[in-house]
Amino acid sequence: MRPGLRGEEPALITVLAGGVGAARLLAGIVQVVPPAEVTAVVNTGDDVVMHGLHISPDLDTVTYTLAGADNPETGWGLAGETWQAMGSLGRYGGETWFNLGDVDLGTHLYRTGNLAAGVGLAEITAGISSGWGLEPTLLPMTEDRVATMMTLADGSGGGSDEVGFQEYFVRLRHAVPVSSVRFAGAESSLPGPGVLDAIGGADVVVVAPSNPIVSIGPLLAVPGIADAIRARRDRTVAVSPIIAGAALKGPADRLMRELGHEASVVGVARIYRDIASCLVIDSADADLAGAVETEGMACVVTDTVMSSPEVAAELARTVLGAAS
Ligand code: GDP
Ligand code: CA
Repeated sequence: MRPGLRGEEPALITVLAGGVGAARLLAGIVQVVPPAEVTAVVNTGDDVVMHGLHISPDLDTVTYTLAGADNPETGWGLAGETWQAMGSLGRYGGETWFNLGDVDLGTHLYRTGNLAAGVGLAEITAGISSGWGLEPTLLPMTEDRVATMMTLADGSGGGSDEVGFQEYFVRLRHAVPVSSVRFAGAESSLPGPGVLDAIGGADVVVVAPSNPIVSIGPLLAVPGIADAIRARRDRTVAVSPIIAGAALKGPADRLMRELGHEASVVGVARIYRDIASCLVIDSADADLAGAVETEGMACVVTDTVMSSPEVAAELARTVLGAAS
């Protein structure tokens, strides 16, 4: 075992994160290394402005999950949430397809108010994180506006062929085929404060089991981030979000197929082989380990369905061990 992985000596861990899958793995990692040594670089391509409020769904999912305040039934929002404000909004005929709970709204008010006052998203994120008492560092991938945009294959967006990520994911319930994805604004964006240092200075970089196209894709589209990870390829381990050819939840498998990838751990390996030297796959895919290795990655087979904190901690141990 590498120094630090049992807590004797700190090892810096940086996790590239989307929402739920990343949040679960992070919750495992903080059980096996000192939480203060863990940094998550989080996707903001899903961010959306609703009712004038700046919402950062992946940052909030990671925050609420690490705080133990997440709602495991929905996979978003807070446990025990109430919906009075949405009821009020509905009374006026306001748009209510994007549900915002009463407690959750406070997060968006804090973020939006501070952004309006000129505070950067990284500092605001640190404020939210500290408000929940979190020890890991959460970094937005960028402070610039990068918007994941989906082109619908059959014009099912209700007029426009291209829709924002949340319209696709929430309003259309990702039940529509997609022909292309772009990250508007990415080409002129800068990595968020601390992001390149967190990657360059990490003992282990982990690509979380998040959607490779719309969660990790935006991160890699911010100029400088992919190069920084490539430079650490020998210390970078990815966890497959695809198990037995399917996503546990959400459209990762369909999106991969629609965009010309194979929806399997081999397809995941082809997406990550330039940035990561090792892919962790589920026991259900054990027969594909050789095919992953043929793609140029080491392959570790273990149970990756994080159905409990114990499984998440065990997976975290395996992932961190795989980097040594
Ligand atoms: P979102 O932003 O909340 O949609 O979530 P992510 O970007 O993190 O991606 C969702 C992906 O995470 C899906 O493809 C899931 O299959 C994957 N995922 C969620 N939970 C787990 C888990 O426990 N194990 C693995 N291997 N993948 C998971
Ligand atoms: Ca997301």
